[in-house]
Amino acid sequence: MQQYAEYGDQYIDGAWRPSGDTGSIAVLNPATEQVLATVPAGGAADVDAAVSAARRAARGWAATTREERLALLTRLRDGIAAAQEEITATVVAELGAPVGFAAAVHAGLPLTVATSYLTLLAEHPFEERIGNSVVFAEPAGVVAAITPWNYPLHQVVAKVVPALAAGCPVVLKPAEDTPLVARLFARLVHEAGFPAGAFNLVTGTGAVAGAALTAHPGVDVVSFTGSTAVGRQVAETAGRGLKRVALELGGKSANVVLPGADLTRAVNVNVANVFANSGQTCSAWTRLLVHRDQYEEAVATAAKAAAKYVPGDPTDPQTRIGPLVNARQLERVRGYVAGALAAGARLVAGGAEPVTEPATGYYVQPTVLADVAPDMTIAQEEVFGPVLVILPYRDEDHAVELANGTAYGLAGGVWAADTDTAAAFARRLDTGQVDLNGGRFNPLAPFGGYKSSGLGRELGRHGLEEFLQYKSLQY
Ligand code: NAD
Repeated sequence: MQQYAEYGDQYIDGAWRPSGDTGSIAVLNPATEQVLATVPAGGAADVDAAVSAARRAARGWAATTREERLALLTRLRDGIAAAQEEITATVVAELGAPVGFAAAVHAGLPLTVATSYLTLLAEHPFEERIGNSVVFAEPAGVVAAITPWNYPLHQVVAKVVPALAAGCPVVLKPAEDTPLVARLFARLVHEAGFPAGAFNLVTGTGAVAGAALTAHPGVDVVSFTGSTAVGRQVAETAGRGLKRVALELGGKSANVVLPGADLTRAVNVNVANVFANSGQTCSAWTRLLVHRDQYEEAVATAAKAAAKYVPGDPTDPQTRIGPLVNARQLERVRGYVAGALAAGARLVAGGAEPVTEPATGYYVQPTVLADVAPDMTIAQEEVFGPVLVILPYRDEDHAVELANGTAYGLAGGVWAADTDTAAAFARRLDTGQVDLNGGRFNPLAPFGGYKSSGLGRELGRHGLEEFLQYKSLQY
């Protein structure tokens, strides 16, 4: 007997409608490897219906007052608050995130971000006098939002909420692995009472639905979060159509511990940072840079910290690390670890061997590698799994060179005896965010990458401005 739901509908033009395309996508639970549900594999027909609905809604939605949008977004925020448990359970099931982390981050962070946009919308100056001009900030048009699976609701909220706040209608194409929390979000948008066409959801594969959406002439802005390789393709297609594009891509962020810092704390925080969400975090500090005189101490501390992470059932509140999202990621991560060991890295914790307990699920061993040379693949490429590499540096200039020595520049950490020293060092890094001595994540600060980590910024005022364009009237 079949145990799972087969959804055949997309959320288009204010209602759930049967998909106009054929085919479906099976959504797996990465801990049990069982099918959770199937969703439509939307294609050109669904994308065209969704973009057409968004275009029809565009003028009316752009003409709403700030107060009207605030009232609807407040209802949506309240819906996200009321659905915290359902969001948590959905993300535990389709991503395999441990339940404690899922509640705090996968459900909690979208609520924080949605709430932040209520204040930002209430206060944003949509009109400004500059000399003899009045400059109006107007909606940038129909937005295509394409999101990955690793923080599946956060990435949806970080795009859809500011776009709606700006007065832009949206078509969302979520990742194939995590469409269920996106469907839950669509239900909350519907229940909040947004006008038909302001928000539309099309599930489907990237190669078909994602590509059709990016190329659609009815789309004005493409906001994409995902891998750098796909981001490049999206930018090329969007460029041909002269669409505005925002890209949040991969990372290989460095955490630099300067002499005089609290080394034990810096290393413990780094291990927790890399192993959170099974290492599937674009901004994870996957490279730990330590002065060569403190190298072996750092390696020993990391080994001790890593031993506390034992792969387990994500529904168990004691579990700190769950499975990876799918079998492909599992093979990819194990391949990177095996490659690093073959290239001469020293195994400090974990390894490329399969996990035997739990017996099912896409689990990898949380891994720490030492004696990693800066030009090794493991020190250059994004692994997207729980793998930390530790590199020694000679002096501060060498640490800057190593930290900046990859194609990426998304995040980072600096630890020093005092925050002024840490800040001075951070200013030399080619990266979009740096946490000083464990500074907390700030959902109002612009988030985005230097170099191959992306274009544009999400979150806070900067994230809202991605969806605005400016009109100047001269008096
Ligand atoms: P991915 O690039 O394969 O997929 C991301 C999204 O793009 C999915 O919805 C996918 O269906 C879609 N897509 C795939 N091919 C497409 C195409 N040709 N045209 C249009 N859309 C297409 O990435 P992923 O494996 O799902 O996610 C992991 C990557 O995301 C990592 O590299 C990670 O660093 C990055 N990421 C970045 C951030 C950030 O804010 N910088 C945040 C989270 C994840």
